[in-house]
Amino acid sequence: MNDTMQEITDPVALADDSCWFCNDSLRDAPPPGGWLIEDKHWRVGAAPATYAIPGAVILEARRHVLDQAAFNESERRDYADVTGRVIGAIRASTGCDRVYQWATMDAYPHFHLWLLPWWTDSTERGPAYLSASVLNITPDENATARAAKSIATELGATA
Ligand SMILES: [Zn+2]
Repeated sequence: MNDTMQEITDPVALADDSCWFCNDSLRDAPPPGGWLIEDKHWRVGAAPATYAIPGAVILEARRHVLDQAAFNESERRDYADVTGRVIGAIRASTGCDRVYQWATMDAYPHFHLWLLPWWTDSTERGPAYLSASVLNITPDENATARAAKSIATELGATA
């Protein structure tokens, strides 16, 4: 079966029930504010307040693939576009100067890209900023919800 046939018949044909990204029943909750993008290739959601700073977003492949090397042709074509749209929305809604990108697939071998806003007046930069953005943070549910809503608006999401 070629890529096009597979994505038409079943966008999540390649799935692993033991994977947090594949199996929604393993998730504690949907992303704050709901999915910002949910289409045949990707799901994009705000990171929960306990996971990362407000304005952080996670882009997930729908299929259980480790990284870009396993993307099908259609995913490869779409990837830069969807990533760019989300980065632009984070920048517009948070006023950040950069959007950091981080993908290690540490917990699950399923492609997911962390996108985190960074400002020139942040006290940390580079890898130290990434760590500070996800480790030992004080969750701010309200700020996370506000950021998610603003990013959704920028993306033109209807949810
Ligand atoms: Zn998976």
